[in-house]
Amino acid sequence: MTIPSIPDLIIKFILAISVALLLASLFPIRWICGMLPRGFARSTWRSMGILILLSAAGVTVFLRINSTEGPNHHEDWLVSLVFLAASIFVVTVCTLALNTAKDVSKIAALEFAAIVDPVTELFNRRHIMALLDAQCQLSSDRNSPFSILLIDIDNFKTINDTFGHRAGDIVLKELGRVIARIIPDSRYIGRYGGEEFLVILPQSASSEAWSVAERVRKAVQSTMIAYEAKPISSPTISIGIATAFGWKETSEDLIEIADEALYSAKATGRNRVCHAFESSGRQLGSRFTVVSATQ
Ligand code: GH3
Ligand code: MG
Ligand code: MG
Repeated sequence: MTIPSIPDLIIKFILAISVALLLASLFPIRWICGMLPRGFARSTWRSMGILILLSAAGVTVFLRINSTEGPNHHEDWLVSLVFLAASIFVVTVCTLALNTAKDVSKIAALEFAAIVDPVTELFNRRHIMALLDAQCQLSSDRNSPFSILLIDIDNFKTINDTFGHRAGDIVLKELGRVIARIIPDSRYIGRYGGEEFLVILPQSASSEAWSVAERVRKAVQSTMIAYEAKPISSPTISIGIATAFGWKETSEDLIEIADEALYSAKATGRNRVCHAFESSGRQLGSRFTVVSATQ
C-alpha cells in the first residue's frame, strides 16, 4: 500500500469534512444533539463540531486505507473545493432556517403570552376589551344587536380564606373551563378582572343571551371542584347581562351597564342572572331596565 503525500491527505481531509457536513445537514440539529452525551448537547455548535470532526476522521482513515493510486492534484483540489463550498452553503442555509424557525416560535409564544391570562388560559382583559371595541364598532356600523355577560364568582374571598389562594386559582381555572364549554363561541371569553369573566355574544339579542347566561349559571352551580382531594363546596356565580342595539357609545359604557345588572344580581341574593336592556321602563343610567332572570 502506497503512503499518500501530505497535500493528498489535506485534499482528502477537506473532502471528508465536506461529506460529513453534507451528511450532518440532512438531520435536524436537535436530533443530532439528542444522540450525543448530555454535556455535549448543551451547545448546538459544539455538538455539530464534534460530529463533523469524528465523521471527517473516520472518512479520512477510510480514504487513506483505500488509496492505491497517486492523486491527480488539480482535479482533486477542484472537486474538494466545490464540495466544501456546497456543503458550507447547505449547512448555512439549514442553520439559518433552523434559527428562523426558532425565532418564529419564540414570537408566537410572546404573542400568546400578551393576550392570554396565565391562570385561566382565557383571553386577558386587554384582549377581550379589544374584541369588545371591535364588536361595538360592528354593532354601530350595522345597527345590529349583541350582548355581553359580566360574570362574578360569589363569595370568592371566602373560598380563598378557607382553602387558600392556590385553591382559589384552581376554582378560577375550572370555572373558566365550565364557562368556555357552554359559550357558543369560545373566541369571545376573557378574564376581565380578579374573579370576573367577560363574555361577548355577537348577534345575540336579549332572549338568547338570557338563556346562555342561565345555562352557564346552572353548569357552575352543579360543578364540584376538589383541592388536594378535599371538595370545595360548589361555587356559584352572579351574571349581569347588557344587550345593545347599534351601540354608538364606548365599550366601557356598555361594561358599566352590565356592571349595574351584576350589582342587582348580587344585591338580590347572588347565584342569579340580571339583565339590563334598553327600554322605557325603570331607568338605569339613562335608558336601561334591569330584570332578574333567576328568582
Ligand atoms: P361577592 O360575592 O360580592 O363577589 O364577594 P367576593 O368575595 O367574591 O368578592 P370580593 O371582591 O370581596 O373578593 C374577591 C376576591 O378575589 C379578593 C381577591 O383576593 C380574590 N382574587 C382576585 N384575583 C385572584 C386570583 O388571581 N387568585 C385568587 N386565588 N384570588 C384572587
Ligand atoms: Mg368581583
Ligand atoms: Mg365575587
